[in-house]
Amino acid sequence: MTLRSRFTLFTVFWLIFILILYNVFVYFFVIRVTTRGELAIMTNKTNLVLDTLKQQSMRGYEDPKLLYDLYNPNEMMRIVTVDQRVVNQVGDKELLSLPPIPRTSTLSETRQINGQRFIYLAVPLFDKGQFLGTLEAARRLTVLDGYLQILVGALSVTSIGAIVFAIFGTFWFTSRLTGPIGQMVQTMREIDRSGKLQVVKLGGREESVELQQLVRAFNQMIEKLDRTIEHQKHFVADASHELKTPLTVISSYADMLKRWGRDNAEVRDEAIEAISKETQRLQNLIHSMLTLAEAEQDAWLNVSRFDVFGVIRELSETLGITFQREIRVHSDGNATKVTMRGDKDKLRQLLMILIDNAIKYSKEPIDVRVRANKNIIKFEVTDYGIGVPENEIPYLFERFYRVDDARRRTTGGSGLGLSIAKKIIDLHEGKVEVYSKPGNGTTISIQLPRNL
Ligand code: ATP
Ligand code: MG
Repeated sequence: MTLRSRFTLFTVFWLIFILILYNVFVYFFVIRVTTRGELAIMTNKTNLVLDTLKQQSMRGYEDPKLLYDLYNPNEMMRIVTVDQRVVNQVGDKELLSLPPIPRTSTLSETRQINGQRFIYLAVPLFDKGQFLGTLEAARRLTVLDGYLQILVGALSVTSIGAIVFAIFGTFWFTSRLTGPIGQMVQTMREIDRSGKLQVVKLGGREESVELQQLVRAFNQMIEKLDRTIEHQKHFVADASHELKTPLTVISSYADMLKRWGRDNAEVRDEAIEAISKETQRLQNLIHSMLTLAEAEQDAWLNVSRFDVFGVIRELSETLGITFQREIRVHSDGNATKVTMRGDKDKLRQLLMILIDNAIKYSKEPIDVRVRANKNIIKFEVTDYGIGVPENEIPYLFERFYRVDDARRRTTGGSGLGLSIAKKIIDLHEGKVEVYSKPGNGTTISIQLPRNL
């Protein structure tokens, strides 16, 4: 069932329920109020008779003059004696045909005769405590029933009108309300059919806030997907380009070897050296690409509590020895142990990427600083090397981005290191900042929560 029909059905049923309650209440309320009025008329009349009788010391109740003035074709009045005899009567024949009953207590009620309602009133007559008989009175409710019929008609007409209006109103309203959803569905189908991403356009109409949010969220998702796909395309293009270059070098050196390698030792050595270097670069590149691909999967992190300071010290020492460079590690307060929760191997890799860059792009000693408070741990890798121009800083973390290709030839970097670093930082919910000045050096500062 569509949202629209559901909404309409719900509103209509709810309205019908309310109308029924309301109509029943009005109907019975009107009946009550009006019968009370009719009863008051009859009570007045019986009181009049009683007063007259009292003035005559309860005598002369057979006198036709007693009831004569009170005649009304829609009513009847009569006096019934103890022995069930009607001694005085006036009024409607049909009402007079009711069986006469002498009652010793007052009674008033609504009754029916031949399908028509009337009110019935009985008042006992006493003379100094002695029961003489009963004064009976009845009055047809024809006028009242006529009004009630009109009332029922009016209530029915207004109720049906309200329901019809409600059906059309809700239908119109829900069409307006669900219009954008239909539009979204259509756009999704279109995307599915054509394979091309597109956003939903909001009509100029005033849509509800929730729908605007829905459409906006949908469009944001589409835009993000679009960006991701665009990214992927670039990545594939860049990656093929990066892979092609070393392969071209390897294949041309292999050709050279084939032709002259057997006779010329110099050519052979140069070719072997180049092939080995390019193979190494290819290996590094593929390794980095695989790391990035892996990082896209969930549950890439393997979280545990460990001593970062220990990791930093040990890594700096190893890299310092390997690359024959001075790497100084500082901590505030001369702490010897700083623990945190995170993926130890990934954070080691992150530090390695930063220190590797510092080694590659500088010749001076390198400083690594660790600072920690209760919730945050911060580390900085500073080098005093070539630095990065300010306008290039925002792009450093993009895949395959290198500040200039001239550096690449000497250092052999693929431009993936910092994008892997960024991924690791993001997965640890951390922040990174770069401070650099060409010729003066670079500081990369990373802030991570201590308890991931
Ligand atoms: P690799 O994938 O081998 O790390 P890479 O070092 O070229 O290659 P990134 O680590 O991503 O790639 O760095 C991107 C670019 O940023 C580098 O090519 C370099 O131009 C610049 N860069 C990074 N770190 C520094 C630094 N400490 N000093 C100067 N330039 C830097
Ligand atoms: Mg690097």
